[in-house]
Amino acid sequence: MHGYTFDFPAAVFDSMNPAFPVPLKSVIQPPPMVEEVLGADERAALKSRIKALMKQQDAVLVAHYYTSADLQDLAEETGGCVSDSLEMARFGHAHPAKTLIVAGVKFMGETAKILNPEKRVLMPDLKADCSLDLACPADEFAAFCDAHPDRLSVVYANTSAAVKARADWVVTSGIAVKIVKYLHSQGHKLLWAPDRHLGDYVQRVSGADMLLWQGSCVVHEAFKAEALKKLHAEHPAAAVLVHPESPAAVIALADVVGSTTQLIEAVKNLPNPEFIVATDNGIFHKMRAAAPGKLLLEAPTAGEGATCQSCAHCPWMAMNGLRNLAAVLESAETGTPGANEILIEESIRAKALMSIQRMLDFAAAEKAGQILLGD
Ligand code: SF4
Repeated sequence: MHGYTFDFPAAVFDSMNPAFPVPLKSVIQPPPMVEEVLGADERAALKSRIKALMKQQDAVLVAHYYTSADLQDLAEETGGCVSDSLEMARFGHAHPAKTLIVAGVKFMGETAKILNPEKRVLMPDLKADCSLDLACPADEFAAFCDAHPDRLSVVYANTSAAVKARADWVVTSGIAVKIVKYLHSQGHKLLWAPDRHLGDYVQRVSGADMLLWQGSCVVHEAFKAEALKKLHAEHPAAAVLVHPESPAAVIALADVVGSTTQLIEAVKNLPNPEFIVATDNGIFHKMRAAAPGKLLLEAPTAGEGATCQSCAHCPWMAMNGLRNLAAVLESAETGTPGANEILIEESIRAKALMSIQRMLDFAAAEKAGQILLGD
């Protein structure tokens, strides 16, 4: 047990438990959902203009699964990729293009820059953020770490470069359980930030001693267990696929709990004719392509007529579109300095790279069979 207290503002930390001051959930107000709507002619004209500008500027587009079908299609038509945040950064690293255009949210652009400092990294909209990143300011996270010097800090990829720079490890949802199990087996106690639901899931599966930051994803937190049970009863043949940023009661109903990439694989590989999917509905574009003919159902959020803030789609992801992508490339063409370019101070980038590199090295060692994890 800790014998000390740490003087955080009462609004931020749990005053009921002074020996284990755990940050409370910050209230993050998502922006209004504004999705780009394009007619066929405008879509075709924008795509052709963007393709020409990308060629001129030696650029490649990497798009997240949660972005629009237009952006995902454009990324694939132009030799880029559609993937999760880590694979987006890895792809950008391996690709020879001098400019990476990241269609996603800010921490993804930052991760791309951390791994690719020599490249110009552009985003359609720099205001595209994430409720997890916003809920974990670097100075508050540093104070959390300082209060627990006996614990290693593990942060989710959905954090700023400055938070990654302060952390010992960065993990994605696809590898979080393995890394935490490994650290637990080595006798480490941990701090986890920022997603409380993913942290809770990882803690239950790994048995590790973890103090959890209390951030959450506005999209996944809205999924409802009772409504999901009802929908499943109407579709008994469906497999339930759940991203672990969802609440524990929703995770408990899952046939598969996994990262975006793992959920797409499940749709492809499981024999079920139907799936109920608890993650951002942007992923359906890829799932439909991966498993044509299978029925994909959205897991219920707060339900029709209720006040769910995101209704299974991320309002920050929706800020990416063909219009602002074309505008960014046009301003870059005219040499507008720093137009939607991701820039990170070198001392922060270098430190953040170390905690990301630990994860990449672990993944490589685990793949090579050099790390054995028990059940
Ligand atoms: S879906 Fe959730 S975790 Fe992903 S970017 Fe949006 S707010 Fe962040």
